[in-house]
Amino acid sequence: MLTSPVRESPSAADPAPWPAYRPFAVVVRRILPLSPHLVRVTFAGDDLRHLGTTGLDQRIKLVLPLPDGTLPDLGEHDEAALRAGDWYARWRALPEPARPAFRTYTVRSARPERRELDVDLVRHDPDPAAGDGPAARWLRGASVGDRLIIVGPDGRTADPTIGCDWRPGAARHLLLAGDETALPAICSIIESLPEGVTAQAFIEVPSSADIQNVVARGASRIAWLARDAGCETSQGFEAVAPHGELLQRAVRAWLPRHTAELASVVRAAPEPLDDVDVDVELLWDSPVDPTTGDFYAWIAGEAATVKALRRHLVSDLGVARSNVAFMGYWRRGRSEAQ
Ligand SMILES: Cc1cc2nc3c(=O)[nH]c(=O)nc-3n(C[C@H](O)[C@H](O)[C@H](O)COP(=O)(O)OP(=O)(O)OC[C@H]3O[C@@H](n4cnc5c(N)ncnc54)[C@H](O)[C@@H]3O)c2cc1C
Repeated sequence: MLTSPVRESPSAADPAPWPAYRPFAVVVRRILPLSPHLVRVTFAGDDLRHLGTTGLDQRIKLVLPLPDGTLPDLGEHDEAALRAGDWYARWRALPEPARPAFRTYTVRSARPERRELDVDLVRHDPDPAAGDGPAARWLRGASVGDRLIIVGPDGRTADPTIGCDWRPGAARHLLLAGDETALPAICSIIESLPEGVTAQAFIEVPSSADIQNVVARGASRIAWLARDAGCETSQGFEAVAPHGELLQRAVRAWLPRHTAELASVVRAAPEPLDDVDVDVELLWDSPVDPTTGDFYAWIAGEAATVKALRRHLVSDLGVARSNVAFMGYWRRGRSEAQ
């Protein structure tokens, strides 16, 4: 659900245009557990009236408080600093112990007129080797009234689509696939689809209790894949399916049954792919130009799974790279900062 931001007409006296991304001072207004592994946090802040978001897969950064609960000044209260667009330079200039971590999330719902923003965060287990990341740690102890900084788009900038990777163009056949970290984006996208397009979404979640009550309109469908249903593997039946296994199997099974929908975007010779080492590099391949053709795929989540699906679509099936957006949202055993 998204409502329009309160916009102000640009004035001739404006000293500089508003930057695309800027820091917003926020506090936690509500914490609502949605399911065993998903928590909806509602942030509030007076400046959120200027938040510019088109919904969909709009990404933002949560700047997390330091262990003592404090936050640095990233210019969020100073109009000249906001217009200068230098929050990142300010962050980098901080000495290491005073530099807070930030992590990337998706706007699940924005209500600029109420100065509110919802983010659905995954409550993920600590990594066996690396332990908790800063966002997971913060979520574990989060309470109403906590102060954070959110870096997000300002509604007064020229490009309202900044920070969105969902660009299906005129495609009428859509494939969305992702794990629980992509669930907020997929649900927002599914809820916003116009008439005349049909989407098949596959969402892998930790347990059947994490399935959300989201309605897909028309002929669009959401298939929920719960890892706690288990699956047969080469090691025998595993009571909890390995992360990404169900998603890969479901997408690979769906594609051959929808070749007619893919036909307009299949190349005679598959386009070459760089061999991204997801342990070292970020996997991010999101076509910038509005897509042509009648099929568009959007795949996000754990990077190794995303990489395997990308290879299958582009190299095995010959789908044009311009018609697929692949985003490794997180990497097993690696923090977002690495
Ligand atoms: C564009 C974009 C949008 C995103 N939207 C959302 C969103 O709306 N909701 C959401 O919950 N996440 C979202 N994510 C993913 C989120 O940014 C990562 O999960 C992030 O790594 C969490 O930070 P952390 O501090 O908990 O862990 P980090 O410090 O980054 O990593 C610490 C350890 O935790 C592991 N880890 C990180 N995430 C997970 C996970 N989900 N499950 C299991 N282990 C994990 C890492 O492999 C690492 O070993 C998004 C990411 C991107 C790039």
